[in-house]
Amino acid sequence: MGAFETATARRSFLKGLGALAAGASLPAKAQQLLADPGIELHPLPHVISKGAWSDLARGMKGDLVLPNDAYFGNYSQVNNLSYSQRPAVIARCETDADVSACLKWAQNTNTPFAVRSGGHNYAGFSTTSGLLIDMSPMAKIKADGDRVIIGGGAINVAVYRALERMGRTITHGRCEGVGAAGFLLGGGVGFNMRLHGIGSDLLRSTDLILANGEKVKANATDNSKLLWACRGGGGGNFGVNTSFTVQTYPVSTVTVFILNWSKNQERVLYELLHRLQEAPPGFGCKISATAPTPEQRAQGGDIVISVMGQAHQGTPPLKELFGNLLEQADEPHKIEKDLPYWEAQDFLSEEAFPYFYREQSVFLKTENLTEKAVADMIATARAMPGTSLPSAFKFFQVGGEVNRLAPTDTAFVHRGFDWLFSSEVNWWELRDPPSLVSDNLVWQQQFYDKVRRLTPTGGAYQNFPDPALQDWQSAYYAQNYKDLQKVKAEVDPQFLFRFAQAIKPA
Ligand SMILES: Cc1cc2nc3c(=O)[nH]c(=O)nc-3n(C[C@H](O)[C@H](O)[C@H](O)COP(=O)(O)OP(=O)(O)OC[C@H]3O[C@@H](n4cnc5c(N)ncnc54)[C@H](O)[C@@H]3O)c2cc1C
Repeated sequence: MGAFETATARRSFLKGLGALAAGASLPAKAQQLLADPGIELHPLPHVISKGAWSDLARGMKGDLVLPNDAYFGNYSQVNNLSYSQRPAVIARCETDADVSACLKWAQNTNTPFAVRSGGHNYAGFSTTSGLLIDMSPMAKIKADGDRVIIGGGAINVAVYRALERMGRTITHGRCEGVGAAGFLLGGGVGFNMRLHGIGSDLLRSTDLILANGEKVKANATDNSKLLWACRGGGGGNFGVNTSFTVQTYPVSTVTVFILNWSKNQERVLYELLHRLQEAPPGFGCKISATAPTPEQRAQGGDIVISVMGQAHQGTPPLKELFGNLLEQADEPHKIEKDLPYWEAQDFLSEEAFPYFYREQSVFLKTENLTEKAVADMIATARAMPGTSLPSAFKFFQVGGEVNRLAPTDTAFVHRGFDWLFSSEVNWWELRDPPSLVSDNLVWQQQFYDKVRRLTPTGGAYQNFPDPALQDWQSAYYAQNYKDLQKVKAEVDPQFLFRFAQAIKPA
């Protein structure tokens, strides 16, 4: 099975599985890797009276959904089941005033809360046992000239459909369920980023409800430092963003491709990384090395290298970009199509059904990826204990327009790199015993530590948060952390918006 097929099969296989918390049953060592021992998983400190919940319900236009209510399970679902947590109540916010009411009520009743849009945070930062502020009803999207105004709770697929009607695009990811809020606030990487910049580079204005319940606009003229912080400072830090105004670009036909190689993995991966970095900004791709499950390995399965992506018009033909590698790709997985832009995105898109996983990331330069380093990565991946689900390590191609801005121009500090490396471990609680999951997480940590040593400067992507990352402040934000703390002190001096890796007020 090719890497693309295995990933798709994994997702279909997992469709519909219920939420089962994994962390609690894992050995202590693995638990530490999933959640820093100091993590505050928002325990509900006291019983909230029915009357208090009724007060909130009466103060809101949107619904308050209780555990016995219909759809409670759907609304409380998160993507990473390792962090499933049942909220006491879900507030389905429909208006700015609803958000403001929730924040004031949470402070008055001393109730922990979390803000959620798409629920795709890797590390449980949008989960709570208290009040879940669910932004998903605030999902209106409208055109505004060459910009689009996206509601604070909209998910990717709704954004795609609206942009398709406009005949335009932004930098977006592939997963249809990811929330625009989390994506934009934490950076936002996608195949268009080398041409247009990362998602948050295109953010021109955003409305927020602050900790004091007040609504503010942040753009180039009003609260410009807050806009700076929202462009990569990470979701959930500065307030609740209720809308985003984003620059759009016209679309035309693109060439999309998915290619696999199941032989000469070390050489293919090295050549891909070094050849493709020369590609012009109209070219965007993700390279994956997918390790087989132990079952697949027993049947002779080995690592499969794959690359998927798109080339805008004006990019040299793939034959030129890939050279001999194109001929050497596995048949029949060689897919290369010219499609209208949004049809192309349907071809590339994925829907990741909830399952258990952990990701660790680091930004790299091509020069870090020597023949020896690449061969070592493949050897390490071959030694992965493995679970019942395939796992991959990946390289998202950055560069181009991403590197036009300086590290301090926005809160997204990671400029000047060629690749965003990310290693994943996926598992399913009912098939993979805790000891096996633990072995895999320990393997992953060792792999990650090794890759991080390749780069003296590469930080980690704040939108792929890793709770085990000890130096997360410098890894996610480097020299920008101090300025982010200053913005935080202005808008949230009491540190109301807090989670395990929240920016602390200066
Ligand atoms: C399957 C999958 C595919 C992904 N693909 C990509 C990709 O291609 N490119 C990429 O860059 N990233 C990708 N990501 C990472 C993704 O961008 C982040 O996880 C993102 O933060 C998720 O946003 P969300 O709204 O879905 O998550 P949520 O869990 O709802 O929120 C994420 C964080 O933002 C906060 N937040 C949510 N809504 C708001 C709001 N309205 N105002 C203020 N804070 C808010 C939450 O409290 C939380 O801290 C992917 C993740 C997954 C699971």
